Amino acid sequence: MEKVGHSVEVFLERSGLKSQLKKREYLFVWEKVAGEHVAQYTRPVKIKEETLFVEVNDSIWVYHLNMLQEKIIDEFNEHVGSKMISKIKFINEDFYARELSEKRQESANLTEKNHFSHNGHINLAPKEEEEIERALQLSPEYFRNQLRIIFKKSFLRDKWKKEKGAISCRVCNDPFFKKYPDDEFCPYCLQKIVSWMKILKNVFYNSPWIKYNAVKEKHPFLDERIFSVCKKTVMEGHEKRILKTLGNNRIDKTIQIKILKKAAHRYVLLAAEKEPPEIEEGDIVNILGCFPGLNQLINS
Ligand SMILES: [Zn+2]
Repeated sequence: MEKVGHSVEVFLERSGLKSQLKKREYLFVWEKVAGEHVAQYTRPVKIKEETLFVEVNDSIWVYHLNMLQEKIIDEFNEHVGSKMISKIKFINEDFYARELSEKRQESANLTEKNHFSHNGHINLAPKEEEEIERALQLSPEYFRNQLRIIFKKSFLRDKWKKEKGAISCRVCNDPFFKKYPDDEFCPYCLQKIVSWMKILKNVFYNSPWIKYNAVKEKHPFLDERIFSVCKKTVMEGHEKRILKTLGNNRIDKTIQIKILKKAAHRYVLLAAEKEPPEIEEGDIVNILGCFPGLNQLINS
């Protein structure tokens, strides 16, 4: 079920609905940051070059919100997981009327997408058709016909990409074309990883033992796969430092041990996912066992 749910999400992101979905994400963040009460009087419209445009249908609120601007920006960025905005422009406007016409436009756009055709030689296998139907069961009924078309289109495009030599992204499984031989993530995920890395580096620095669920409480948009990739990168950094220091014969031994102790300590906390008082002797031996000679050296 988990996998199917994920593919719905991926399909939406890859299809023409991506921007609408993004907009909904922002709406969600705005409500959390502004609070239910303020959210009633406000609508986030767009983000352009680090400026969030928010419509406010009551001029008194424009004044109050401007006073609170800095605090809101900090909280907004924290929720999104990157420094997405540095300014908020509050615009006094009655947005209810506009929302109504937007809704009409949205349904018109979706109907338009009914007319789609694909390159003749690629077709869906029965198993793929089934997968699409399963994914559709999770979406609201009135939406399914439109979604089916988008899903099929997206499936066919993925198949075509794979035929042309695309590989699957390690985070979202979406096929993409490598730019460099080491590429493992699609550009979309890579961008996400880079911005989450900035936040998670600090999180791991302050509490290396922290588990995904604890981080997610504070950062509801953090994907578990992104978390794993970032954690792995942080751990690999320590691994490299340990190996490099272990192999360095020219360094003063006291300094060498000091560096190794510090790096090993962090590495154990990250790998064991336990806070310092809970770490047992056995954890240390097991985890550091992959670095030959390390245990003897730091205990000497
Ligand atoms: Zn990806």
